[in-house]
Amino acid sequence: KVKEDGKNGVQFFNKEMKDRIFMRMELEKRLHASIENNELYLLYQPQYTSDTKKLRGFETLVRWNSPELGAVSPVTFIPVAEETKFINTMGRWILKTACTKFKELQDKYHFNAVLSVNISAVQIMEPSFVQMIKSVLEETGVRPYNLEIEITESIFISSMDYVIGVLNELKEIGINIALDDFGTGYSSLSYLQLLPIDTLKIDKVFIDSIVGKGIDRHIVGPIISLVHQMDISVVAEGVENSIQLEYLKEHNCDCIQGYIWGKPLNEEDLNKLLYQLTFGEAEDSILRESIS
Ligand code: C2E
Ligand code: MG
Ligand code: MG
Ligand code: MG
Repeated sequence: KVKEDGKNGVQFFNKEMKDRIFMRMELEKRLHASIENNELYLLYQPQYTSDTKKLRGFETLVRWNSPELGAVSPVTFIPVAEETKFINTMGRWILKTACTKFKELQDKYHFNAVLSVNISAVQIMEPSFVQMIKSVLEETGVRPYNLEIEITESIFISSMDYVIGVLNELKEIGINIALDDFGTGYSSLSYLQLLPIDTLKIDKVFIDSIVGKGIDRHIVGPIISLVHQMDISVVAEGVENSIQLEYLKEHNCDCIQGYIWGKPLNEEDLNKLLYQLTFGEAEDSILRESIS
């Protein structure tokens, strides 16, 4: 719609565009205040070994509860945080909060597990990134081999050599590297040879294909064996039913993350789970700290 009010000459934006721009500005403004206003919190989704159902660790998933906008999905606000670089501040808050909780629970229950934290490509490109990780580990007392960072193929928009350099620095400290969301995007197995990664996370898209009717339901098994040949372990993500679970067990998938064995938990429920795994009947369901 041109010349909306007839006063300022040509109007480039119609009503919907204005609304959208306003919403986006609003989201951005509120998001930037979310940490100081205590609106962010974390959930933790357990991962278990496929064969014996021992707790492998848990993935940190950020949540934003805005009084004005309601519950906003990370799928919506993470891209905004990336565009504005707020992800650097938020990423540090997420890591620090998760590590603090992890250490508190580890001191209480003496388990050996992995804390997985999603890291955005924007964070990896930040020159102080490695130093940020090191200082959070020092501040919280979490040992590097208990931390895993999850990266996605989106890091390949940046210089490959630089990214590999950063990942190698983290590996030298003892931090685990996981490649997340395999099955979306380009998903080339050749990336796995280029990157110093320990774990591949197969996306729900592929896991869903196991129960689908298409030809690609035969694809996950061969991927697992190829990945194992590269000495990389496999976590299946978004496992929801027993057909998928049995298939994954049969094809030697190392670990399972999904609603079938556990939804993302708040701090209280995570504490309950660890209590159960520590003092409950099934004594083999948690790895003791002394084992490694
Ligand atoms: P992701 O890292 O691949 O996380 C897995 C997503 O799958 C999570 O969604 C989780 O709740 C969901 N999920 C896990 N198991 C199942 C299942 O069995 N069924 C179904 N339907 N869903 C399942 P969520 O929490 O909404 O997170 C979405 C994405 O947002 C994440 O995908 C990640 O890319 C991003 N994200 C979440 N937290 C963070 C964070 O702290 N930092 C960064 N940079 N990104 C984050
Ligand atoms: Mg992830
Ligand atoms: Mg994923
Ligand atoms: Mg994802």
